[in-house]
Amino acid sequence: MSLSVKYNVAIIGGGIGGLMAAYRLKQNKPDTKIIITERGNALEKRSCPAGKNNGCIHCKTCSITSGYAGAGAFSDGKFNLGTAYGGTLGEELGDDVANQYIDEVDKILNKYCTSGIPVVYKSNEDLKLKCIQNNLRLLDMNVKHLGTDNNYITMLNLINDLAENGVEMKTFYDCEKVLKTDSGYELLYTNGEKICADKIIIATGRGGANFVNDFCRDFDVKTRSNHIDIGVRVEMKDVIWKEFSDKIYEPKILYKTKTFEDRCRMFCFNKGGLVSAENNHGIITANGHSYAEAEKKTDNCNFAILSSIRFTEPFNQPTEYAESISRLANMIGKDNVIVQRFGDLIRGRRTNDHRLSQNTVIPTLKATAGDISLVLPHRILTNIIETIYALDKVAPGTANDDTLLYGCESKYYSIRPVFKNNDFELVDGVYIIGDGSGICRGLSQSGAMGIYVADCMSK
Ligand SMILES: Cc1cc2nc3c(=O)[nH]c(=O)nc-3n(C[C@H](O)[C@H](O)[C@H](O)COP(=O)(O)OP(=O)(O)OC[C@H]3O[C@@H](n4cnc5c(N)ncnc54)[C@H](O)[C@@H]3O)c2cc1C
Repeated sequence: MSLSVKYNVAIIGGGIGGLMAAYRLKQNKPDTKIIITERGNALEKRSCPAGKNNGCIHCKTCSITSGYAGAGAFSDGKFNLGTAYGGTLGEELGDDVANQYIDEVDKILNKYCTSGIPVVYKSNEDLKLKCIQNNLRLLDMNVKHLGTDNNYITMLNLINDLAENGVEMKTFYDCEKVLKTDSGYELLYTNGEKICADKIIIATGRGGANFVNDFCRDFDVKTRSNHIDIGVRVEMKDVIWKEFSDKIYEPKILYKTKTFEDRCRMFCFNKGGLVSAENNHGIITANGHSYAEAEKKTDNCNFAILSSIRFTEPFNQPTEYAESISRLANMIGKDNVIVQRFGDLIRGRRTNDHRLSQNTVIPTLKATAGDISLVLPHRILTNIIETIYALDKVAPGTANDDTLLYGCESKYYSIRPVFKNNDFELVDGVYIIGDGSGICRGLSQSGAMGIYVADCMSK
């Protein structure tokens, strides 16, 4: 069935990139007919049953990663106020322009942030020095922290305002194909619906990697292989990283490993947080978040340690590689993420329920006790172990026996389309933004790219 209206712009994906693009398109030209189509649910109806059911039940559409407000809906709401990390928008646009757009995202979010005053954490010279002295590089940037709850309200206010301003929004509209017509484009959805639009913005995030792949293949858009990051989510007592989290809130640290000289990074830190499982098309991976409210804080902190791999010719399926490792973890973990004590990993033995029940760090995710060394390739595991010992020098206790490792966590940026021009246009009238473009890896740059592309389209 086809919606009879023809839209000026159809946005595929309702994450921060798509929402910010819609906001700016309406701001630039209020009469623009815009529709956002989202494969997931409305924000207020997104609910993950994992907590109630003690584990992921493999919903058809994962409420954690899909739905309005996108993958960041239940995130900790950390907005990076600069270009030092969270993507390469600075390289694409130049730091000045990218920072100007990041600043605009910040202002828009401030307008909708009605449930609390976010805290801004400044970079810290003493901690930077301490890291350098231990062969670690602390990435340096001011970060605004909204917290999960404030982030949720902010995004809900933005979505409601867009709706009031005439932006149409569809839920459970999973776009599977785009066709070129004489007067624009036709978008085909898995529910049998069709939409016609003059122009399209692809804002499908990381979860839409297959869609972007198919689009590039169908429209002959060249692609470049991007790197992937594979590793674990690490959980320990909160107090171990208190010096860092009190001063800069979120330590992001790079380490060049001794054995392989590979780049490993510690990031996505959650103070007083919870480890979570997310379902990426049937593959269950680890992640983490934390709430701003004191009563929802745990005694633990968690963060990711990921080893970066950039494949060279002839191999060009990095996403499939990462997925097959995560699938292996799910196989051993009986359709779940595996959890292992660091002490057990080092001693070459699995963690079992008994050892886990004696652990001083109480796991915040119900994962399957097991052995991640049966899953992660030698090189990646070596990188992770070396990074844990390196981090232990600046935050003693990180390498404690009772530290928990959840496997796997992976971030794939997969393909990176070759753009037609600096407007991030793929083919005439089709633009790509956010994480799905292979350029962004965070909320602020994804939002900034959305506004930037909207400005380009309004020229
Ligand atoms: C648990 C978690 C915590 C995070 N915490 C932070 C943080 O604190 N700070 C930070 O900066 N970043 C964080 N991130 C990363 C951040 O969420 C992303 O970088 C950001 O959401 C990317 O925005 P986006 O709009 O490009 O894509 P997304 O937010 O992924 O949105 C894309 C949307 O498109 C939809 N979609 C995909 N394919 C289709 C299709 N074919 N048809 C229709 N719809 C489709 C998806 O359902 C999704 O809702 C976190 C991510 C996760 C998963």
